[in-house]
Amino acid sequence: MLDILRRIVQEVNAAPDLEQALNIIVMRVRVTVNVDVASVYLVDAHNSQYVLMATEGLRKDAVGKVRLNSGEGLVGMVVEREEPVNLDDAPSHPRYRFTIETGEQPYHGFLGIPIIQHGRVLGILVVRQRQSRKFGEEEEAFLVTLAAQLAGAITHAGASGEISRLLETPDKVSVVLHGLPGAPGVAVGQAMVVYPPSNLDAIPDRKITDVEGELAVFRDAVAAVQDDMRDYSNRMSGVLPAEDLALFDALMLMLGSDTLVEKTMERIRAGNWAAGSLRETIGEHVRIFETMEDSYLRERASDIRDLGRRVLTHIQSDRSASRPAYAQTVLVGEDISAGQLAEIPMEQLAGIVSASGSSSSHVAILAQSMGIPAVMGVEGLPVYRLEGQTMIADGYRGDVFVNPSVLVREEFVRLQAEETELTAGLKDVAGQPSVTPDGVSIPLYLNTGLVSGIEPELHSEGDGVGLYRTEIPFLMREQFPGEEEQRRIYRKVLEAFAPRPVTLRTLDVGGDKMLSYFPVREENPFLGWRGIRISLDHPEIFLTQLRAMLRASTGLNNLTIMMPMISTATELDMAMVLINQAIDELIEEGEPLQRPPIGIMIEVPSAVYQVKAMAGHADFFSIGTNDLTQYLLAVDRNNSRVASLYQSLHPAVLCAVQHVVEQAHKLGKPVSVCGEMAGDPAAVLALLGLGVDSLSMSVSSLPRIKWVIRSFTREEARAVLQQALEMDDPLAIRKLYNSVLEQGGLGGLVRPGN
Ligand code: PEP
Ligand code: MG
Repeated sequence: MLDILRRIVQEVNAAPDLEQALNIIVMRVRVTVNVDVASVYLVDAHNSQYVLMATEGLRKDAVGKVRLNSGEGLVGMVVEREEPVNLDDAPSHPRYRFTIETGEQPYHGFLGIPIIQHGRVLGILVVRQRQSRKFGEEEEAFLVTLAAQLAGAITHAGASGEISRLLETPDKVSVVLHGLPGAPGVAVGQAMVVYPPSNLDAIPDRKITDVEGELAVFRDAVAAVQDDMRDYSNRMSGVLPAEDLALFDALMLMLGSDTLVEKTMERIRAGNWAAGSLRETIGEHVRIFETMEDSYLRERASDIRDLGRRVLTHIQSDRSASRPAYAQTVLVGEDISAGQLAEIPMEQLAGIVSASGSSSSHVAILAQSMGIPAVMGVEGLPVYRLEGQTMIADGYRGDVFVNPSVLVREEFVRLQAEETELTAGLKDVAGQPSVTPDGVSIPLYLNTGLVSGIEPELHSEGDGVGLYRTEIPFLMREQFPGEEEQRRIYRKVLEAFAPRPVTLRTLDVGGDKMLSYFPVREENPFLGWRGIRISLDHPEIFLTQLRAMLRASTGLNNLTIMMPMISTATELDMAMVLINQAIDELIEEGEPLQRPPIGIMIEVPSAVYQVKAMAGHADFFSIGTNDLTQYLLAVDRNNSRVASLYQSLHPAVLCAVQHVVEQAHKLGKPVSVCGEMAGDPAAVLALLGLGVDSLSMSVSSLPRIKWVIRSFTREEARAVLQQALEMDDPLAIRKLYNSVLEQGGLGGLVRPGN
């Protein structure tokens, strides 16, 4: 059976469309289970019906025509029960319904299996036998397995509009897919699909006669890539730091070099077409670089490959025919690169939807700093069938709507308008202090990791930086930045905010943040070598970073250091030894240092219960609710399949925060929150009640959070918390907080979600 199953799944996956996939299934099932009839019905949500879409054994002309109303017949019973219905004498069952159009005779044996994806019934797989027959456990298990495989194919087809064509529904069927929130906001627009770069290796040689024509094609392509590079460099100059922009300059220089251009032209003159000549030249260079001793130069091989692909793309596509972006473009791709993002004019870029990645992917980080809504890691996104389709990307919840109904679309357009209004309304809190009506000051800090986006006027509202993720500049490089390079990066941030405090977090790689030049392959990376664990195992990397941080603060003295992923007091002790070593070294070297405050993140459940043990060394605690929620609830923060279980208002999360605050305050240490919870209005109301001293969030959340702080007294927040702590259901807790926001006149801030 297993072999047969594997073969059927392969055939189904290779089918060009859903119709053929369904036909393969019914054909194979009829033979394998040895039944008189095998059929598939699809749920037509638009008309609340089940439609016969493929059959072997019933009349073929009934396909598409036989429609059962919701709940009708045994098929309806399968949908209702969401489990197999196995009957040896179907006609004697009260729910049996005879359908004349199918040429059905009274079939006795009946086995119906629901086809379910993410808790939703998409269709029904049915087998029937003329004689009385009770299907065996193994047959049932086989069909259940097959139905589960089929669910994915049906979701794909649904999202691409194929089902609506098959079902001949008047409107396109709206499909909702679930991913992960990547950057907040709501985008409504048309999908523009971006493809992975062209594949040079697949280019064959081809003889030419028009040498001049081919030379012109090549020259135009090179010029076009140079233009593109200049363009990206200009566009990204507000977003990326100057050091990163240098990469574009380096590529442009390489592209202008005689070796690449002249060598290719020589090959064209010798009679090979432009694409083939380019492949040869690029291949030759890549091979030379790859064999170099110096690892930096070896890395250049990938730049040369990238350049080659870019030139090839222009050779392959007639430039004048290259697609212009839509007025409201939702960029869709398997894996969108920063370069592809830069290709869309900012004013036309409405949103981003990526089949892979998470909120910590490069493109999501860029989207956050550009204020573009993004949804990442959308499972089952049929990327290449979406071009031009209307899409909604809800960056708050991580939902994507393909071909939304008019109603859904109107709802989101209304949300967008409300948001614009809200942003205008939020201007009222600009320049006001973050103080509750009963006089409790809750400083609001910023989370960042890009040197750009720290223009003082943009961030004048923040009381400083509460979380600077140092891994981001590390991620954007091709090797570990040295001490001086790091010092310059940190200095920029410290200077931009001085005299306000800036909390630099030591390197937090591992988990989902991998450095290309420091690959770590693990089965279970979130429980693996991550954050402080790597720093302690590599004192040379840690000390370099600490020295750079300390030196960056000379004369400014607004530095605060924070360490991620601490899970035992021993780790903190070990880290303190290295921090003291770095300080002593620098003092010895004559650096006029001031010892900065040193704190730790509470993001591992064990740390929640170690506050007392760590308070001796830590000057403050900052709760990283993103990881704390994931570890407390055992829900991967980057897995869209379990996204609905990722609830930051879960009673366990609230209790953990409560415990940390109580313990830390007893010992006179302040507690901050720097996870996404600190940017979520409903959660902030909870944190206010829990007694948290300060919050750190992305710049886009700051005005609304300040509005919350200025609207509720700590006493009011405490009273709501008492109620919340009596409740067991995270969604009910969220509802409670949403209703309090609404009553307080802050209904505009209410978002569904986690
Ligand atoms: C957190 O875990 O809450 C946090 C702020 O750190 P990061 O999101 O960078 O893991
Ligand atoms: Mg974390």
